[in-house]
Amino acid sequence: MMPSHGRIRQADRVSRCVVIGSGIMGAGIAAHLANAGMQVTLLDIVPGSLTTEERSKGLTLGDAKVRNRLADEAVKRIHHAKPPMLYDPSWISRIRTGNLSDHLSAAGEADWIIEAVVERLDIKRKVLESIDTARRPGSLVTTNTSGLSVGAMAEGRSGDFRQHFAATHFFNPPRYMKLVEIVPTADTSPETVTLLTELCERRLGKGVVLARDTVNFIANRIGAHGMLVTLEEALRCGLTVEETDALTGTAMGRPKTATFRMMDMVGLDTLLHVVDNVLDRSADPAERAIFARPQLLVKLVESGRLGSKSGAGFYRKTAGTDGRSMIQSLRFPTLEYGSPSRASSPVLEAVKAAGGAAAKVRALLSAAPKHTHSQFAWACLKRTLLYAASLNGVIADHLTDIDKAMRWGFNWELGPFQLWDAIGLEQSVRRMEQEGDVVPAWVKEWIAGGNSSFYRCEGTKRLFAHDGGYREESGEGDCISLAGLKEAGRTVLSTPGASLIDIGDDVVCLEFHSTSNAIGGDILSAITLSAEEVSRNWRGLVIANEGRNFCVGANLALLLMEAQSGDWDEVEDIIRYFQRSMGLLASLDRPVVAAPHRMTLGGGVEACLPADRIIYSPETYFGLVETGVGLIPAGGGSMAAAMLAADRAQAASGGRSEASPMLLQPQLNQLFETIALAKHSTSGFGVRALGFHRPGDRVIMRQDARIGEAKHECLELDRQGYSPPSQPLIPVAGGEGKAVLALAIQSMKHSGYISPHDELIAGKLAHVLSGGDVAFGTKVSGQYLLDLECEAFLSLCGEPKTQQRMSHMLETNKPLRN
Ligand code: NAD
Repeated sequence: MMPSHGRIRQADRVSRCVVIGSGIMGAGIAAHLANAGMQVTLLDIVPGSLTTEERSKGLTLGDAKVRNRLADEAVKRIHHAKPPMLYDPSWISRIRTGNLSDHLSAAGEADWIIEAVVERLDIKRKVLESIDTARRPGSLVTTNTSGLSVGAMAEGRSGDFRQHFAATHFFNPPRYMKLVEIVPTADTSPETVTLLTELCERRLGKGVVLARDTVNFIANRIGAHGMLVTLEEALRCGLTVEETDALTGTAMGRPKTATFRMMDMVGLDTLLHVVDNVLDRSADPAERAIFARPQLLVKLVESGRLGSKSGAGFYRKTAGTDGRSMIQSLRFPTLEYGSPSRASSPVLEAVKAAGGAAAKVRALLSAAPKHTHSQFAWACLKRTLLYAASLNGVIADHLTDIDKAMRWGFNWELGPFQLWDAIGLEQSVRRMEQEGDVVPAWVKEWIAGGNSSFYRCEGTKRLFAHDGGYREESGEGDCISLAGLKEAGRTVLSTPGASLIDIGDDVVCLEFHSTSNAIGGDILSAITLSAEEVSRNWRGLVIANEGRNFCVGANLALLLMEAQSGDWDEVEDIIRYFQRSMGLLASLDRPVVAAPHRMTLGGGVEACLPADRIIYSPETYFGLVETGVGLIPAGGGSMAAAMLAADRAQAASGGRSEASPMLLQPQLNQLFETIALAKHSTSGFGVRALGFHRPGDRVIMRQDARIGEAKHECLELDRQGYSPPSQPLIPVAGGEGKAVLALAIQSMKHSGYISPHDELIAGKLAHVLSGGDVAFGTKVSGQYLLDLECEAFLSLCGEPKTQQRMSHMLETNKPLRN
């Protein structure tokens, strides 16, 4: 084990990694290690033959280019991956390539070696044997198996190897999927498990679940069972492919890909592989019956219909009569394809009307319980719940681990035990028993003990059923759950759009919870109320939420309505209210820290920029994208951009008070281009390249810890004796700067990059960012810039093409180029 030096945590000392196997997973894992700042060597086998291209170039099997081909190709795939695998494209330089025959010595210098070769025990064992001879004592070795026996892989290896060996089962794609199942063997040391957990959680930002070394571990075991059960029940109930997917996707709190679409994505051959794994290793007749290869799947695979990768599976992409591509679906039992049919029923209507996963599942079961759709849903759900209950304590130590694995590995909104609580534990068990199902003894004993749910809240503590009693869910380090705090009554104030929540240590968090977290009057009034409250009673304010996205922008619907009716006073009132609210955040006499995640666009960015610090989640897509709807940022965003340019120019000048065109103009150009072209980052790290980064802002790898980290930052600023930043006058580039931007606009226009309407919007943006027609270096107030923003925004609202863009966005969620 690596020694821990002073205060540096062991996980921080892991910096050199070797990944063996450069296929889908090896490449994805290598990229994510690079995301975490590690130096990676990616190795694969030496190809056995030359490609035509290699032959035409006169290369031989001895040339490095050929020998490293597989890993080199993987790096190319990483580079071009969509969605991107890397947070920053330049980090590709952190990955070196090589091959197992010539470069295994890299393992001797590595802190962590990850094996990600094909899912075959014999091949994995051979690779691990070679790692055992090449590694240095104390280095970590993990396998990325989907479900082979980890213990069997370690057999025959040295003592030191076995102590430092476990499985780290990443899910695909490793950057985006949260789950890593860590599977120790009997010989893995507790220190290794702790170190791997810390590495995966803190350095890689993943959610770790400890799994026992059983076939397919947790998520794949329950996930694959769910797919097979769904297929069986769909055939029994005579449902179509569309009906099945409509009932087993968001209706059950699962992703839209539901069952058959998901099976197509996974690959039907891969699924059979997972199924065979259980069949080979399970002794339970009931389980073997479910995992017996379903005939329908076998037939599809035998006919080459493997899912998306072969173009056909349960769905098929084909060309329609008009030449356009269309999706067809499989018909049972003929296995022919036909035009998709829309699934509808009173059950699906009730589900649609219900809000939230728990309410949807309840509607699914109770809206019309005699309807086939409801009967089917109940059959699928109960079998999953009973299967999960039968495996509690077998595949995982705690039922929470099963729930987490399904949420993080399969994107279910509720794990099986959470779902069971949602539909009512006692009544559903009663129904199961009436229907002759065998309910695991521990569940019956749990209910007999007077318990009516698997989870319970006690104050801010979350408890779960374990060994006949309740046990506290171990908090995930610094992770703060706003939902949990609200349940515990820690809401300080609330409007329909946002709430202020006490997150401990005299810090509060302003949580947006409007539709799509779009900013409208409800959020703005919550900001006004919160600013007063925080100033009076609290040490600091965090702005963060647990929604799907931090904030998709300002609420356009109201704005469009007022613009279409020509009510310009109303439009101006809305803008001024927005600007004033953001101004309150900027001038608050307590520290404010924003912690955005995922989509943070337009008004969302304007709500972050007044904060003293921004703690970005790695998955933050951040940008002032107002030009996409024909507008410019006018909630303080354009002013903030002008200030950022001036601040940076001043920092570059070594603090001289006079602005220099040489320093200010390039900063202005960058931010102008970012906003005019509605660019947004594809990660939290990408914010810097767009020009929005400020000193002290940073990215935290572990997305779930962002609220806790923002709170720490607030407390730190408070300890340092916080006073709000003074509001100095801002040197602007004026008419000269605007002329430079005008040239850029002309060049974008001539190269066909922008439309005439884009040109108009960009011209107005240039006017505001450069501070209008004043002389270069003129110092203006923030209010002056806000007035310019407002004026430009109002005039754009009156443009028919802007109104078209706004309504198009509201209707389609996509920008219109007109
Ligand atoms: P893949 O087929 O894309 O890649 C496998 C890699 O193994 C290839 O680069 C191949 O060159 C290499 N390889 C083949 N024979 C080898 C040998 N004899 N010695 C060394 N390397 C050899 O497979 P993948 O999807 O990346 O899967 C890799 C591992 O990850 C498997 O154990 C798989 O079960 C597991 N896994 C896959 C997924 C997924 O979604 N694809 C998810 C989680 C885990």
